[in-house]
Amino acid sequence: MEVCCLGWAQVLLFMVYEFIRRFLRENDLTAPFEIPQMCFVSAALACSQLGVEKDRDLYLLEERIYTSSGMEGKFRKYLNNRTAVPFYCVDEVDQTRALFLSFSQHYQYFRAFKMLFVSDYSGGSTLLTDPQIMSAPEFSKAGKHLFADGNVSTGFASFEVDHMCNHFCHFFKLPTDYAVWDGIPKSVAVIPPVGSGSGVNVQTPIIIPSTGFTKAMDISDRTATPTTYV
Ligand SMILES: [Zn+2]
Repeated sequence: MEVCCLGWAQVLLFMVYEFIRRFLRENDLTAPFEIPQMCFVSAALACSQLGVEKDRDLYLLEERIYTSSGMEGKFRKYLNNRTAVPFYCVDEVDQTRALFLSFSQHYQYFRAFKMLFVSDYSGGSTLLTDPQIMSAPEFSKAGKHLFADGNVSTGFASFEVDHMCNHFCHFFKLPTDYAVWDGIPKSVAVIPPVGSGSGVNVQTPIIIPSTGFTKAMDISDRTATPTTYV
């Protein structure tokens, strides 16, 4: 599940940078502050070729983060998976990174119709690792989570209370009135089976616009009115 979380976290963080790029271009703006450039480590699964197939060892290989002697600096925890409140960092640059990652959660939460965001951001100056995907309770069943066990339900449920918008959220005009956001109707959310005990396939998109999917808004278009898909 760890490699699954890494893959999804990479994509969800990439979406944030893509949003930033489009927002600046479409509004002909330059950000008046530095935008931290961060990504998750590359990772792959490796399988031993020794012995019979069913007994072969499986290894998760991750790109190394040189935290002690390299450019990445010391290992930091920017946000954990119990709350959307970022850790306070004494170093000003680290604090900016923590706030940026907090902003990324706000965007992901909005863009995913209040259904998920990345948490447990930790790592070096630019490379992150070991994320968790926090998801709505609809994606958990009988104690089984769609992504991984680090999906702390209370951490997800308290996002709207815990998250404090910062200068990134304000500059990029993220919506702050959670009450008027429309979550995607449950009738059109394609939720993979959870709790079968045999693993959950989260390699395919979990949301498919179809009949009844209304009021979806493209956040990249600030002037757009809600779109109806039928
Ligand atoms: Zn915010």
